[in-house]
Formats: sequence, C-alpha cells, structure tokens
Amino acid sequence: MKQRIDELTAQLNRYAYEYYTLDAPSVPDAEYDRLFRELEALEAAYPEYRLPDSPTQRVGGEPLPEFQSVRHRIPMLSLSNAFSPQNEDGVFDHSEMLAFDERVRNGLGGETPEYVIEPKFDGLAISLTYENGLLVQAATRGDGVSGEDVTRNVKTIANIPLRLHGGDVPEFLEVRGEVLMLKADFIRLNEFQTVNNQKLFANPRNAAAGSLRQLDSKITAKRRLHFFAYSIAEQQGGKTLHTHFDELVLLKTLGFSLPDGNYNVFPNIGSVLAFYEAMQHKRPSLLYEIDGMVIKVNSLAQQETLGFISRAPRWAVAHKFPAEEALTQVEAIDVQVGRTGAVTPVARLKPVFVGGVTVTNVTLHNEGEAQRKDVRVGDTVVVRRAGDVIPEIVRVVFERRPMKHAATQSNPQGDLFGAITEARPSENQVPLHPQYRLPDTCPICSSDIEKEEGEAVARCSGGMLCAAQRAQSLIHFASRKAMDIDGLGDKQIEALVAQNLVQHFADLYRLDIPTLQKMKENAESSETMPSENPATALSDEAPTGKTAKKQPVKWAQNILEGIENSRRPELARFLFALGIRHVGERTAKSLAQAFGSLETVRLAPEPLLACLPDIGNIVARSIAHFFAQSEQQRQIDELLAAGVTPQTQAITLPLARYAAPEKWLARLPGFKISETKATALWELSGQSVSGLLTDKALPAEWQNWRNQAENHRLLQNIEQFLAAMPSENDSGNTAAESPAAGKTFVLTGTLPTLKRDQAQAMIEAAGGKVSGSVSKKTDFLVAGEAAGSKLEKANALGITVLDENALLALLG
Ligand code: NAD
Repeated sequence: MKQRIDELTAQLNRYAYEYYTLDAPSVPDAEYDRLFRELEALEAAYPEYRLPDSPTQRVGGEPLPEFQSVRHRIPMLSLSNAFSPQNEDGVFDHSEMLAFDERVRNGLGGETPEYVIEPKFDGLAISLTYENGLLVQAATRGDGVSGEDVTRNVKTIANIPLRLHGGDVPEFLEVRGEVLMLKADFIRLNEFQTVNNQKLFANPRNAAAGSLRQLDSKITAKRRLHFFAYSIAEQQGGKTLHTHFDELVLLKTLGFSLPDGNYNVFPNIGSVLAFYEAMQHKRPSLLYEIDGMVIKVNSLAQQETLGFISRAPRWAVAHKFPAEEALTQVEAIDVQVGRTGAVTPVARLKPVFVGGVTVTNVTLHNEGEAQRKDVRVGDTVVVRRAGDVIPEIVRVVFERRPMKHAATQSNPQGDLFGAITEARPSENQVPLHPQYRLPDTCPICSSDIEKEEGEAVARCSGGMLCAAQRAQSLIHFASRKAMDIDGLGDKQIEALVAQNLVQHFADLYRLDIPTLQKMKENAESSETMPSENPATALSDEAPTGKTAKKQPVKWAQNILEGIENSRRPELARFLFALGIRHVGERTAKSLAQAFGSLETVRLAPEPLLACLPDIGNIVARSIAHFFAQSEQQRQIDELLAAGVTPQTQAITLPLARYAAPEKWLARLPGFKISETKATALWELSGQSVSGLLTDKALPAEWQNWRNQAENHRLLQNIEQFLAAMPSENDSGNTAAESPAAGKTFVLTGTLPTLKRDQAQAMIEAAGGKVSGSVSKKTDFLVAGEAAGSKLEKANALGITVLDENALLALLG
C-alpha cells in the first residue's frame, strides 16, 4: 500500500505541476480525479503512510517566480467534489450529493439549509481587491496561501470593472471569481496558434490560465478573456449581507458579470439536483465551459458554523458533470470504405465511457489527420465527446506510448508485451509501432487505394469491384445520363447487391424473372431495412403504376425490358457509366469524340489523354489507371460478352489537332520539360518516336528517362497507338470538316461550365481561331454572363453571337 501511495503522490504532483504551473496538462481531468480519489481512499485507510507533500493536503500549484507574490488575506481554497454517475438509461445516482446534504444537515444540528447552485466555471480563480471602489490588486490562487500578482494583465479584461458601479460602494472589497476564455475565442486562438506554428492549448481553461499568466500584458489583452464573479471574500463598509445570494446580487449591482439564468437559490437538495440535471443538458449550448455546478449553503451564518476541512469548505461542493474527456487505448487502426470509395482510417478503442456514452470507434478522418495527431496502435489517447458531437481523439499521451529497445529487431508482434516499457526519453528506445500509413490496397476488394496530390481524402479505385461501393456504382451505371436503364430503381439495385445477386455490371444483363422475384421475396422477408425496405418500394413504385401484387411479374418484365433497351449505348454514355473517377459526362464525350471507339479509348496512353481539351494530367492519369487494371478490363469484356455494344462514332476531335508531339512530350509522367524544349527534343529525334526511343545522341537526361523499362514501354505504346489512329486526311471515321474550321471566334463573359481556356482549346481543336477583339473579321462571338462592350460591338456589326450550348452544338 505504501508503494502505491508513494506512486500516486508523485504522479499526481507531476500532473498538478503540468496543469497549474505549466498550463499544459498531459492527461484529462477525469484521469486526475480518478487517481486523486484512489489516493484519498488509501490515505483514509492508511493515514500513517500519507506523505507531507500529498496533493490531498494542498491547493493548486506553485506560483511562477516571474510574478510578484501576493499573500492572500483569506486563503483561497479548493472545493470537495461529488459525482452523480448515470446508468444506461441516463438515470442519475445522486448518492454522493445526498451524503453531502446529510453531512451539512448534521453539521447544522438537523436544520435544512437553503442552497445556492451556480455553474462551476472551468477557468482559473482570481481574487480582485477594490479600495474605495478602485481595483488595486488582482491575484491568482497559487497554492491558496500566496498567489501571483497579475494586476496589469487583469486590467486588460474588458468585463472587469476598474471602478465599481453604483452608489453604495464598500470601502474595501475582495471579490472572487473565475477568469475564463469563451469557447469561440478558444477555437479562434488555437487557429491563430496553428497558423503561426505555435503550441496549441489543450482546452479553454489552460488557454485562459496561459493567457493570464503572461509577463507581457499586451498578449493578455489580445486573448479576449472573460470574468465571472462568484463570491465576496471580505467586505468593509456598505450594505450588510446575510446570504451568499445577497453577495451575488451586490456583485451584479457593482458591475460584475454573473451567469444570468444559470444560478438560483433553492429550499432543499431535491430542487438543487433537478436544476443540476437541467444544466447538464444545457451545458453544450453555453458560451463557456463548465465542468459541473457548485452547490453552496446560502446562509453566511450557517457557512461559518460548518467551517472548513483542510483544503475546502464544508458548506460547498463541486458537483461535477460526467467527464467529456477520458483516457483509453488504441487497439487497432482499421480503414472504412464509404459508398463513394472514400477511405477513412478508424481507431478501434478499448471501450471507454465518456460524455455519457461508451465509445469504441473514433474516425481519424484521413491519413494526414492521423499522422498530424500521430496516433499509433497501442497508444494511450485522450478521447473527447462533448454534447452530441461525434467523439474524437484529442491527443496522444506520448509518455505512455509503448516503446522497445532500438536494438530489438525481432518481429514486433512477438515482443508486443515483453518489450513494452513506459516511454522515457532514452536514446535506444523507439516506438513499438510505426507512424500510421493507409494501406496501399483496399481491405474489401484489394484494388489500389489512391490519393491525389493536394487532396486529403484517399479513395479505393475499385468502383464496381468493391462491395462497399457496388450499389452506388450500379446506381450510377443505370442512371438516366449513363446507361439509362428504365424501370430499375435505386431500391431494387440495393436489394440486388445486398442479396449478392449482382456483383458485376454484366450480371444485370443476365437477370431473369425468377431472380428478380427471389430478390423481391427476400427483401419482403428482411426486417433489417424498415425505413428503406425495397419490398415496399417494389410494390409502391412498380413501374406499371399498378401494385406488384395484382400483376406479379409485370414489374419484373419492365425491368428486364429497360435492361434490354440499354444494350446499345452511345460510346460517351457507356464511358460515363463505368464510373471512372473524374470522368463526368463532358469528359466522356470528349473521349468519345477523340477516339471514336471503346477499343481505342481502352488503349489510349496517358500523355495523349492529357492533351485533350478538357482533360488535365490528373484526369488522364485516372483514366489510364482505370484501364490498366485487369479487373476493370475484365468487367468491360464481360459486358461486351453479355451483348452490350457501345456504338462507335465519328471522330470530331482528331488527335493530330491537339496532341502535337511537343504537347504530349511535355506531359510525360516523371519527365518535366517545357513545350519549347520538347519541340527541340522532337527535332533532335528526327521527328519520330522511334528516334526518341533509340537515338543515342539525344540529351543524357532524356536517355536516362526513356531507358527505364516502364517509360520505354510507354513510348512504344504511344508509337503504336499513333500509328493505328486514323490521320486527319483519312476518310474512315473522321468527321467531315467542322463548321468551326477556319472561322475566327472571340470569347467574352463567363460561360456556365466551360473555362475560357477549355473553350479556346475546343475551338482550336475543331480548326477555329480565337482572337482577342471583335472586328469585321470575327465570325462568332461566344458570350457568357456579364458580357460587356464586346457583345455590344458584335451586335452593332451583326456578328453571330453564340452561348455555350450553341458553341458546343457548332463544335459537334
Ligand atoms: P476544482 O476546480 O475542482 O474546484 C475549485 C475551484 O473551482 C475554485 O478554485 C474556483 O476556481 C473554481 N470555481 C468555478 N466556479 C466556481 C463557483 N461558482 N464558486 C466557487 N468556485 C468556483 O479544484 P482545483 O483545486 O482548482 O482543481 C482540481 C481540479 O483540477 C481537479 O479536480 C482536476 O479536475 C483538475 N486538475 C487536473 C489536472 C490534470 O493533469 N489534468 C491536474 C491538476 C488538477
């Protein structure tokens, strides 16, 4: 027992130093309170082992030596705590409070006292001394006997009266209250600290304490602190007061802020407890943090009768709310794949009761966030759940991170328990687990997980291959702008996927009436989807408009008919339906116009794709990567085998127009070169891809790049692909000359969807020219929103004005 008492005393003293002196706690208050109570209980059982520096015998922490010390005329004490645990139904167990009430009544010889109940502000206690109405001194609580002189800083707090208001001002007055930071100001401060790369504050209390205890009062002034008064420690002159409530009323008259609406006086403990419960619900909506309510005996005479124990009055108690922060351990970090493929790391926790619920999982949002907080498996973490806000990991308690000796090379699984030690700064200690990284492949479908530069969210590239995304992918596939499968609604698709009746796009084309009926029956008997029950959807939304019961197979026939009618889609619709990331309708159209057939799109190399008018490097990479995955190719082959035939179409954006060699050379992955330099390289190669591939006289940098196997292969692909593409002069499936060819366009105003450079690229690809000013030579003015003088001039000259739709129609 002695050993545990020694341990707890040392540990609590260390935490108290971090909290009171450094304003930087490493554990949540609930953890401190838990250990404090354990120590209190042990000391009660074994008083002989109590240490002279036990935290149970002291108030607060050491004052900072940088400040002048102030001896309090009346000690500033702490408060005893009481908790009311809640059961699963939210019912409170108030036995500790009832015991407090009983102790008070016994102390008063059986009298029932009135109680005042007020918020327990989560800030720091301050004593303010006024002489003849003027603020002369402000001091922190310090160790209760002496505090720090913070007068200059306190004078910067806007709602502290420097001179007391009203006529009946006492000659001498010592006011006690709490300095705190409003929640909104705390968030703003930490945002500022982040931007300026400065240390973040753990909570508003520590931010308030850190801001008040600044040697430079200009910093305090900037931090927007707030003060609430809660008692009078000493008064000379002025009105005689009999109750604590009288004190509050006087404080208000003298110009102090009080927590209006959130304090009251009650005749017995029952009504106090009801107010406490109501305040717990109100807590999240308050502008400031409170960690409980303080209950005080109202009569000052009764307070005097009751007196004090070592560090707290007997006539008051801090009735704490359930902790919003708690400690627990990270057992694993898994990833979750959302319906749209977004991959989110989720920390699996040792279950912990916090903010009134048991928390077992906490999202880490994304890889960057997990790394910023540096959350690792095995870590002890502070979990926060305030009000209805989703729980979060606030920070890692690094000193409890499992460590191993650097020399230990063995399998980390093997020494998981053996080598774990408390982390102490030591050169040959390294964390047992590495920094968190998202897996490379999806845990559900094994497709690659991809994260684009500058994006926080990573995604599974599996699309339809991934069970998590299957329903969403199929809904997109069947939608009106994609394959346009009439009669097949979202609910039916969800039921088909949930029952594993459809796993691939092609499975839709193999559906028959018995399978659809089976889907419906299963959905009807399923009790798991009460709100989104596909069965209800089927009978209510039977495509015939009649109920499914009356005509049991008609609805199924309609679905099959819709599927049948979708077998010969336009190429652009088919490409859009595949759900390739970044390929919207417009991009799908460009692909179709540039390549004319599915076979060609499937083979198009990334640098050529990147030259297309509205396709940049990111989109090109996404398309090339999609078609590079054998599973995706298999899906497409299966669709073709099931009789789906995307239509070929005329090429209206011929490659030769926009993918000149210097353009695609400047878009090679991993080889940075300007278009000007690319032109020179092309000349040096003898204007041929085979020259680029073999010429030994080309610059060394180029030779190094092209000699890498992967790059060599890419160049060969480009060579073959270009050779196979019909040239502009071929009749084949190249379109007749565009009506835009040879025409001069002027662009003005903002177009609804196209950016100006996209519109320009499309006009140029169709053989048109874009000029900057309107003249008689202008053939078309393309006008968007807020078109100004150019539009007027064009109208005056009788030039044809096009909007975006008309332009697109003209360009085909
Ligand atoms: P306390 O905060 O539990 O109670 C006393 C204090 O309550 C007073 O000094 C005053 O500042 C404040 N208070 C707020 N509203 C009040 C009101 N209406 N009337 C009167 N007083 C009011 O006690 P404490 O001794 O200041 O601090 C102990 C607490 O601090 C612990 O319970 C723990 O939660 C926290 N703590 C945490 C750590 C840590 O490492 N996380 C370390 C030390 C202390």
